[in-house]
Amino acid sequence: MFLGHFGLGFAGKRLAPRMSLGSLFLAVQFADLVFWILTLVGAEHFRVSPGATRVTPMDFFDYPWSHSLAALAVWAAIVGAIYWIGRDSLAGGLVLAAGVLSHWFLDVIVHRRDMPLGFHGPYFGLQLWRSLPWTIAAEAVVFGAGLAMYLSATRARDRIGVWALWGLVVFLAAAWLASALGPPPGSERAVQWIGLAMWVFVPWGWWIDRHRVLAKDRAAR
Ligand SMILES: [Zn+2]
Repeated sequence: MFLGHFGLGFAGKRLAPRMSLGSLFLAVQFADLVFWILTLVGAEHFRVSPGATRVTPMDFFDYPWSHSLAALAVWAAIVGAIYWIGRDSLAGGLVLAAGVLSHWFLDVIVHRRDMPLGFHGPYFGLQLWRSLPWTIAAEAVVFGAGLAMYLSATRARDRIGVWALWGLVVFLAAAWLASALGPPPGSERAVQWIGLAMWVFVPWGWWIDRHRVLAKDRAAR
């Protein structure tokens, strides 16, 4: 899943209003952010395999450190603990930990049976990627619902608060549609660098949030 993860990141603002959208994006995307680094250093593996699924031509066959539920539970505890100690907010730490774990459950909906529970399986996957229309519907619903929650929880402080947000929304949707509808990528290397570039959404989320205020603060003024 791609857009759906960001949907949950947006929705997290409802649970942890004081937390930056950048931190929330880091949590929900954590598995993928780590995965692309690990593939670049050769610790995890995937291959471009046209026809692997209707939606994505990617065959993810070795990613226990980034995508097993067991590993994500450890990452969730680490990320949550860092926030808890650093910001003195247990509630915030729990929200981030839940965000890291959420990645597994959203990915299970769309992936083939390749999502490991432990390091060496068993493997799960509801295979929504077999259907393009259903995948688009699922991504759109989760992303749209999360975005709606973020929009109701915050108000733009200035014009950047509007354009940085909608720029991100359009960019994410266009990038995802292009990958789902376009031809398969030419090489694993190309995919890895694009994947690595996804780190940009962490500072982008932080930037959006700096230019928006909580709706309830605005109303109180
Ligand atoms: Zn993933």
